[in-house]
Amino acid sequence: MKPAMIRALVAAALCTAVVAADEKPPSAEMVLRELKAGNDHHVIKRYQHPHQSAARQRELAAGQAPHAIVLSCADSRVTPEIILDQGLGDLFDIRVAGNVASDTELASIEYAASHLHTPVVVIMGHQKCGAVTAAAESGEAAGHLPSLLGLIRPAIERARSRPGDLIDNAVHINVENVVRQIRTSTPVLAPLVDRGALRVVGAVYSLDTGKVEWLPESAPKAIARLEALRQSVQCVRSH
Ligand SMILES: [Zn+2]
Repeated sequence: MKPAMIRALVAAALCTAVVAADEKPPSAEMVLRELKAGNDHHVIKRYQHPHQSAARQRELAAGQAPHAIVLSCADSRVTPEIILDQGLGDLFDIRVAGNVASDTELASIEYAASHLHTPVVVIMGHQKCGAVTAAAESGEAAGHLPSLLGLIRPAIERARSRPGDLIDNAVHINVENVVRQIRTSTPVLAPLVDRGALRVVGAVYSLDTGKVEWLPESAPKAIARLEALRQSVQCVRSH
C-alpha cells in the first residue's frame, strides 16, 4: 500500500472517531456556538424554532440527551428556549429566582452532568433582576424569601465597593459567584470540570436588547489541553 493511501486511511479513521465523539455528546465548544447563534436569532427575531415537531416529541419519549444545562432566573421574561432559540430536549432547565444554587439546584446539575453527560452549564443572570434588587434593599422579607436573598447578599456586598450601577454590578458578580461555586462543587462537579468533561459559563441577559452577554471564562488547564488536541485532529482531517 502506498504511503499516501495509508495516510489517507489514518486520517479517515481519526475523522470517524471525532465525528462519533461529537455526536454523543457534542463538544462544549460546539454547544456554545449553537447557543450563541440561537441568541442571535432571538435578537433579530428570526427564529428557527428547532426541535419542536411531533416527531421530535415522540423521539424524546425514549430518552433525553440535552446539550446544555441552563440555571437561569425564574423571571418570566428570561425563558431559555426562546432567548437561545432551542427546542424540546435541547436544554436541561433549572429556574430559580436570582439563579442561585442551593443543594437542590446543585443536585439537578449533578444529575444532568453525570448521568446525561451534558457538557455545558450556563448560569444566566439578567438585567433588572427583582431578586437581586430585593437582596440589595434593607426591608424585611416575608416567608421563605430571606433564605433565598441570603444567597445573593454576598454579591451585593462586593458590588457596593465598585463604581457604577449597584444592581447591574451585583447581577454580574452573582453570576460569577455561582459559576465559581459550581466549578468547585465536590464531590461530583469539580472533578468533571477538572478533566474537561464539564464547562461552566456565565451569562447575563439584556431585557432591553434581547442579547446575552457571555462572561469571560478563565479556562481550566484541562479544557485548554482538550481544545489543543481537538485542533490537532482537525488539522489531520483537513490534510
Ligand atoms: Zn431575576
